[in-house]
Amino acid sequence: MRIKTDSFQRIVVKVGTSTLTHEGGTMNLRKIEKLVRCLADIKNTGKDVILVSSGAVGCGLAKLHFNRDTLTLQQKQAAASVGQCDLIGMYSKEFAQYGHVVAQLLLTKDVVDSEVRYANAKNTLETLLEAGVIPVVNENDTVSGEQIRFGSNDTLSAVVALLSDADLLVNMSDIDGLYTADPRRDPNATLIDCVAEITPEIEAAAGGAGSARGTGGMVAKLQSARTVTEAGIPMIICNGDDPAMLYAIMDGTFIGTYFEAKGTQV
Ligand code: GLU
Repeated sequence: MRIKTDSFQRIVVKVGTSTLTHEGGTMNLRKIEKLVRCLADIKNTGKDVILVSSGAVGCGLAKLHFNRDTLTLQQKQAAASVGQCDLIGMYSKEFAQYGHVVAQLLLTKDVVDSEVRYANAKNTLETLLEAGVIPVVNENDTVSGEQIRFGSNDTLSAVVALLSDADLLVNMSDIDGLYTADPRRDPNATLIDCVAEITPEIEAAAGGAGSARGTGGMVAKLQSARTVTEAGIPMIICNGDDPAMLYAIMDGTFIGTYFEAKGTQV
């Protein structure tokens, strides 16, 4: 896929649990180190970078040895609070190597439902970006009950893109992008490199759920693509397996699915 990238000054990058952790939930240090290096380098080119990172629950579960099959809500929330410390500690240390400062923002859905909270979150983000900080955002899983849950960081990343008036949302997944069918089941499935409009055919292609460790799946990604593209922000789904894909995106040639912002063309 080839796109023009001149207008991408502010970028939100969402990375999922399956990219950041190993099967058992422990941190995938090699991937995290690569990701941080890429983001730091993109930041060095003068871009504003916001990272939406999952992985808190997964890391916490691995550390507390809670059984995933019998997990209670309280255990999950406790795991998130432990895992989030590890995550932000890791990001803070890794970004510091390149001279960058990170901030931790933990949000719940009620931010969107209240004008005052929305304005507060927006102003804080703007102030951090103006100060050259890299905000690292996650859902506040420890307090988020049913009423105030985003439910997936795909949804959260779309909200963050809107909150920050981003120019691009990149959703790094465990798959190359949106396929014509589920490539894990259909060998004839092909990658869709550009979506001008989210039609019923595109929705049908998104089909099933995601990996065992993440929560989003393609349906949630498509919903977040709809939210941001309607607000004039393009979105890319690409594979987080090699974080260097972010360089390819910034260079304008990459493997993935590009969702055009409404009213624009590639
Ligand atoms: N907020 C969750 C976490 O940090 C992940 C949710 C998601 O992967 O969509 O573990």
